[in-house]
Amino acid sequence: MDCCAHEGPEGGDARFEVKKVADGVWVAVAAPAYKVNCNTAIIESDDGVTVVDTHSKPSAARVIVERLRDLTTKPVRYVVNTHFHWDHWHGNEVYPAAYPSAEIVTNQITREAMVNKGLKRIQDHVRGVPAEIARLREELAAAPPARRDKLEADLRLAQAYLAEVTALKPALPTIAFEQTMKLYRRDREIHLLHLGRAHTEGDVFVYLPKEKVVITGDAVIGWTPYMGDGYPEDWAGTLDRLAQLDFTHIIMGHGDVVGREWLRTFRAYVHDMVAAVRREVATGATLDEVKQRVTAALAPTYERPFSTYGEYRPWRTGLAGNVERTFAMVS
Ligand SMILES: [Zn+2]
Repeated sequence: MDCCAHEGPEGGDARFEVKKVADGVWVAVAAPAYKVNCNTAIIESDDGVTVVDTHSKPSAARVIVERLRDLTTKPVRYVVNTHFHWDHWHGNEVYPAAYPSAEIVTNQITREAMVNKGLKRIQDHVRGVPAEIARLREELAAAPPARRDKLEADLRLAQAYLAEVTALKPALPTIAFEQTMKLYRRDREIHLLHLGRAHTEGDVFVYLPKEKVVITGDAVIGWTPYMGDGYPEDWAGTLDRLAQLDFTHIIMGHGDVVGREWLRTFRAYVHDMVAAVRREVATGATLDEVKQRVTAALAPTYERPFSTYGEYRPWRTGLAGNVERTFAMVS
């Protein structure tokens, strides 16, 4: 750990702890925020910087651009998006604005998902946040004094987010690859890999073979995975292909840097959850029954490890969503 939590001039709730992972490789670990932010990986090479993922809004990406100036004088040349979810690419526009020659890179599947689903979802946010603001106002009006500070802060953040998402200028990737793209810099290799479906249909993994670091996006995270756009039945197999790579450090989409033991736990959770849902569906159980029984079956093993961020992202809520998605896919 070589730095401190820091809030940029317009960062709002975008706070990051920058940590060194290898020589010239850092991660900005995002603190829990009202509008969730992903982590950003920062890779310095002889001729410039590659960053991976850009958060849920431009103001958060601008905090990273500021922090970069403390780390290196080199310009950002590549911005990689690991998948099409809003909290990983809505800050893209900041990089070409700050570094005119920056290219934004992802695979073809993810670029298409941004065009076909991501752009529409921006409009869903623009339409949906006013109702969220109205709800917060109502809650605030009825809230006891002890809850007011938090609700007032959330209200301010929701209003600021609405202004940002309304003004968003979505910066789509300028380079798209099929299966694999490799950047051979003089001093390091950066491999961009598609290993199969997991969190989305197009998850990109970034692999630094010399440094033994892998960057997973949300295919591996520090809390219960979100599967709403995911492929629970393919997920463990994709992680098995990931496990074949030689690495010691995992920079995840959310949560602190971990080692291989977390990949084993995370993969086992996904595998066991899918197996348990299949088993219950085969008995003819209803969705509610499946939720209850799978929760009871998995809690002894998985509730603790998946509760590191339990207040922010409770395991049982995440599991219920995972069971629903899996139930719909195996029924
Ligand atoms: Zn995601």
